[in-house]
Amino acid sequence: MTRTLRTPSELVDAGLIAPEAAPALEAVAARYSIAVTPAMAALIRDAGAPIARQYLPEPEELLTAPHELEDPTADAPFTPIKGVVHRYPDRALLKPLLACPVYCRFCFRREAVGPDGGLLTEAELEAALDWFAATPAVREVILTGGDPLMLSPRRLGRILARLAAIPHLETLRIHSRVPVADPGRITPGMLAALTLERPLYLCVHANHAAEFTDAAARALRGLHGAGLVLLGQSVLLRGVNDSAAALEDLFRAMLRHRVKPYYLHQLDPAPGTARFHVPEAEGLALMRELRGTVTGLAWPVYVQEQAEGAGKIPLGMAGMRGRAGQAREAV
Ligand SMILES: *Cc1c(COP(=O)(O)O)cnc(C)c1O
Repeated sequence: MTRTLRTPSELVDAGLIAPEAAPALEAVAARYSIAVTPAMAALIRDAGAPIARQYLPEPEELLTAPHELEDPTADAPFTPIKGVVHRYPDRALLKPLLACPVYCRFCFRREAVGPDGGLLTEAELEAALDWFAATPAVREVILTGGDPLMLSPRRLGRILARLAAIPHLETLRIHSRVPVADPGRITPGMLAALTLERPLYLCVHANHAAEFTDAAARALRGLHGAGLVLLGQSVLLRGVNDSAAALEDLFRAMLRHRVKPYYLHQLDPAPGTARFHVPEAEGLALMRELRGTVTGLAWPVYVQEQAEGAGKIPLGMAGMRGRAGQAREAV
């Protein structure tokens, strides 16, 4: 199989869902994009539930639970210009396109994006690049989307070259699912586009140790060889990685592939994602279970996106902040 699967009937033909399941999934497909790459279809066959659950649609995605929010990250007030999100003083997001190689069923960005994939026009991209050039307080650009590694190497290379020519952008960062979900995109041409003088950090999204296939390993080796610093981000997900053993396996797999676990995200409460929800108290207990057992290198920061655009906060740190405050008062 060589094509990304995008409809319930293609999932049936590939043997990934039962024919009886397809009719109920047509309404899900009308609202939320489906994409299962050949690599991930093969991995669903090999590794089963923890991978299948992330990518195969389910009818309950059309139900919104009471705790879920239409717009969990509330980026709009922080959007100075189309394609840019500037929430923190020293860094800003640039979203050149909204399409992804796979659509994770727990992602608030799985909303159908249309045939152009939400690609910025040339004029919109120019305006966004001009905004970065004119905003010296911003010292880091974070390319996200969508997935920036879905761009052609030529287009991505041009964007990176423009950004790297802005002196106050000290570091560049890309967040991507491509190295595990569609590792074939990490071609020599892509590696050439990513080879920069300016430090380039790549934060790879992976949620289960099985995602580190031989093909993913080759892609990561190439990215490391091109001089990128590799970080890992994961989402804590029911039925995927919600045990201390699964998290330990995931973080150790990252380290074996030169990926430093950076963030473990509490799931954003996007509509129709209740089947993935793990309560914060349970997440904290899992993280406590790992502490002391696994190398500190394997430790991400467990974070949550706060409602109404208030940004990410580390979970389980309230007590630590209190102690630091007391220590200061005592001096
Ligand atoms: C997550 C995020 C960042 C990056 O935050 P770090 O803590 O530096 O990884 C930047 N901008 C926005 C809007 C974000 O949501």
